[in-house]
Amino acid sequence: MTKRQNVAYTVSKLTDYSPEALEKASRELISALNAESKSINTEAEWKTFRDRWMARKNGVLASLNDLWLKKAPAASKRDVGQRVNQLKLEVEQTVDSTLERIQGGASTARDEAEKVDVTLPGIRHPLGAEHPITKTMNEIASVFRNLGYSVEEGPEIETDYYNFEALNFPPNHPARDTQDTLFIANQESKPLRDRLLLRTHTSPVQIRTMEKMKPPVRVVCPGKVHRNDAPDATHSPIFHQVEGLAVDTNITFCDLKGTLDHAMKALFGSSVKTRFYPSFFPFTEPSADVQISCIFCGGKGYRDGGRCPNCKASGWIELLGCGMVDPNVYGFVNYDSKKVSGFAFGMGVERIAILKYGVDDIQLFFQGDVRFLEQFA
Ligand SMILES: [Zn+2]
Repeated sequence: MTKRQNVAYTVSKLTDYSPEALEKASRELISALNAESKSINTEAEWKTFRDRWMARKNGVLASLNDLWLKKAPAASKRDVGQRVNQLKLEVEQTVDSTLERIQGGASTARDEAEKVDVTLPGIRHPLGAEHPITKTMNEIASVFRNLGYSVEEGPEIETDYYNFEALNFPPNHPARDTQDTLFIANQESKPLRDRLLLRTHTSPVQIRTMEKMKPPVRVVCPGKVHRNDAPDATHSPIFHQVEGLAVDTNITFCDLKGTLDHAMKALFGSSVKTRFYPSFFPFTEPSADVQISCIFCGGKGYRDGGRCPNCKASGWIELLGCGMVDPNVYGFVNYDSKKVSGFAFGMGVERIAILKYGVDDIQLFFQGDVRFLEQFA
């Protein structure tokens, strides 16, 4: 048997042209063709196989023509011709499909190499989250939105007029010195009020709002502010504020106290107490600083058997500034100070985030360290 496989098929002369004999000879040819096709594994082998069967000179098909068709008696020519044509088709198709099989085999191997290994660990796409400062700023704004305030924003590069003058900081007023302003260079040729600077507080948005809106006004203005402070654990040249302004008829200091007391309870919990004591801001009169009872020691001033370090044992933490809008400010925005009154307040977002989340260094908010930030996700 082994020996027979190695002997290549050759076309023999026909002696019998009966349909039965033709059929038998055809079956022998096809089975030889199929057996040979199965043994082909490379393209080089396939080329030899193709030429052996289809070469114009001495190919099996050429021999069929010579030995079967040409030698057939006239009476059988038609039958033999049909048979030879069928066999030609069969040979061509088998040669083609043999090539497809060995090339297909190669591409299967390629697919194998590219196949997805479902047991490998996947590529993780971590979900983003709000930065703690954005989160805190939105929380503060939403407390006031629930009280009917709308949110206003303004430019970070301001003129001297909006940042100082219209807020009742006259030129050369000593209160300007407390703001450590970063000025834009080469503005000296302009009048003072038009010179550009990085806003030192969000209060300019109050002026811009009152210029375009008549009372009643209730707005909160969240945003980024800049001061010429060297960075350390409690200072940053960039920080954020949320400023608030309410102007209407008959607004009193009582409304201010009630509003901020509610806001502090909403932010830090209902057991938090507030207290107000006198302060100074050029754009409010009277002005006050607001303290909340220490959220770490519950206002007792001591905890864990010792002094509370967060409130320095006082039981209170200073948190924001506020006051009744100075009537001089209304003069800049064409409000009638005899008819309207209002209050303003401002708070540092980082300061509130530090307290809420127990962060000990303000720089952490700006370093972009994922190990820090992912704790807020
Ligand atoms: Zn305390």
